[in-house]
Amino acid sequence: MSDPDWIQKIVIVGGGSAGWMTAAALARGLDRRYQIQVVESQDIGVVGVGEATIPPIRLFNAMLGLDEAEFMRETQATYKLGIEFKNWGGLGARYFHPFGAYGLKAEMGHFFQYFLKLDREGGALALDDYSLCAQAAKGGRFDRQSDDPRDPMSIFGSAYHFDTILYGQYLRRFAQGLGVVRTEGEVVRVDQDTETGFVTAVRLKSGQSIEGDLFIDCSGFKGLLIEQTLKAGYEDWSSYLPMDRAAAVPCALNGPLSPFTTSTAREAGWQWRIPLQHRVGNGYVYSSRFISDDAAVGTLLGNLESEPLAEPRLLRFVTGRRRKIWDKNVVAIGLSSGFLEPLESTSIHLIQASINKLLQHFPDRRFSPANRETFNRRIHADMETIRDFLILHYHATTRDDAGLWSYVRTMPIPDSLAHRIALFRESGQLVIHPDEMFTPTSWLAVLLGQNIRPQSHTPLVAGHDSQAIAQGFRNMKAQIIGRVGAMPSHVDYLRRHGMWAAAAVAA
Ligand code: FAD
Repeated sequence: MSDPDWIQKIVIVGGGSAGWMTAAALARGLDRRYQIQVVESQDIGVVGVGEATIPPIRLFNAMLGLDEAEFMRETQATYKLGIEFKNWGGLGARYFHPFGAYGLKAEMGHFFQYFLKLDREGGALALDDYSLCAQAAKGGRFDRQSDDPRDPMSIFGSAYHFDTILYGQYLRRFAQGLGVVRTEGEVVRVDQDTETGFVTAVRLKSGQSIEGDLFIDCSGFKGLLIEQTLKAGYEDWSSYLPMDRAAAVPCALNGPLSPFTTSTAREAGWQWRIPLQHRVGNGYVYSSRFISDDAAVGTLLGNLESEPLAEPRLLRFVTGRRRKIWDKNVVAIGLSSGFLEPLESTSIHLIQASINKLLQHFPDRRFSPANRETFNRRIHADMETIRDFLILHYHATTRDDAGLWSYVRTMPIPDSLAHRIALFRESGQLVIHPDEMFTPTSWLAVLLGQNIRPQSHTPLVAGHDSQAIAQGFRNMKAQIIGRVGAMPSHVDYLRRHGMWAAAAVAA
């Protein structure tokens, strides 16, 4: 049975991570009634950076039904347990943003408020001591998360570092296996209905015309359909997040195969280190207002652990979001929908979040404006949360050694973030919205890591026995040390589970 209002043909323009993640997920999530076609141009190529992810990527891969060991080998992946931040709160300062949760499940009720109480009473506690992920990262160890809620490992969390080009190719093969049609060619013209403005077809240089009902714009920063055709508009957030360029270069692994990303703040931005099985990804994300391209490339090359494996690539971007992410019959997914710099590895996650929401709000050919509007509001809310979380890293600093840091330390910030900081400073309370992607662990790690100290704790724990709480914390710390001590090293884990790619460097 078929309804004339049902969508039949979905055209995805672009074959980067966004295009192939979308194609794979739609092919898996929708029934075979839908025809899905991806148009990509090898001449134009992909951005090709974007190697660090956050834990929900595991759900995405699981939803597709990917075999984890195969995925790890095919994409030269490693595990990621969080991010180490160096020189962010101040020069010489360091903190770790772990995945998973702080404390152990049994004691988690008031974990942070107890922590504050002991801390205020002179306990001098280190937050990292109560995180399985932070401790495993420190020891270069890894183990599987447990499904048993009684097991401490149930609050472990992890994501991946992977080669984004290999991930795209892997998903392409997967999606083609599910019937997705790939067409090579450059889109040179977009046809629209003269009355409604809806996109009716894309035309390739070869003259081929590809018609469709729903168009997904995965064409990267330029937004071929959403911006160049529909003029959806762009909201520029660079006054809050002034980074607008990145220089990226791989090098050979000459340091540890750490199960975490390292972010080192520098004069005019920050540098990432992402260890993969076959190489290390490095990049300097910077603001062109505060450093020249040549100086930024010089800084990057001067801070590598081994010889570069390629020429540095320069990427330009404007931080912000598309005013309408879904307009008419075009949905923008990936860089075409906006860009927030990679400090917390959120772009691939936004692709995943957009796909999930598209499936939840899947349209018919009437393209209900209310449905579109709901989708747009939800993605906009995700982007605002990420924006605020990123700003926190820059704004809450004591650094005044360079122009960038003086600017971000004193710049006005959005009210939504100012409110979160004020409440935390007052009483250690966290504002977490129901649909929010960052967990209390993430906010805690960064707020405390950037030296925002609460003045008080909740009165609810004031009367609780400090000695008993302190004993509980000692037990927790000992259990965490014991559990991490029993974990295999990161490399051993990859090898033992058949995740080590043949072409990987020896470790
Ligand atoms: P692209 O990779 O640009 O793909 C666009 C596609 O559209 C290509 O296939 C291209 O050929 C095609 N195309 C364009 N025009 C046409 C046309 N006219 N005709 C036909 N085809 C066309 N994300 C993370 O999650 N973690 C990270 O650590 C991270 N680091 C990053 C670091 C930097 C410096 C940057 C800039 C981004 C980073 N990202 C990161 C973001 C991540 O790279 C992107 O979100 C992801 O790669 C998705 O890109 P895309 O598919 O939207 O665009």
